[in-house]
Amino acid sequence: MSLPKASLFMGGISLEKVTNHTCPRCGQSEMNVYYSDQTDVRVGAWCQYCNMKAYYHNEELVQINS
Ligand SMILES: [Zn+2]
Repeated sequence: MSLPKASLFMGGISLEKVTNHTCPRCGQSEMNVYYSDQTDVRVGAWCQYCNMKAYYHNEELVQINS
């Protein structure tokens, strides 16, 4: 099954969004993960359910507003 994807533009950087990841804070599958279009590196995540925001540091999810 392929995940739904959508591209968005933030500050001229093209990111790819992958939805339905499991949120580490609330456990709901409502977290969007954002990838860099250029490198396929994960750059950030946002949970639509609990509004958790995070970025990736060395492949580790770091919550910004925990
Ligand atoms: Zn959440």
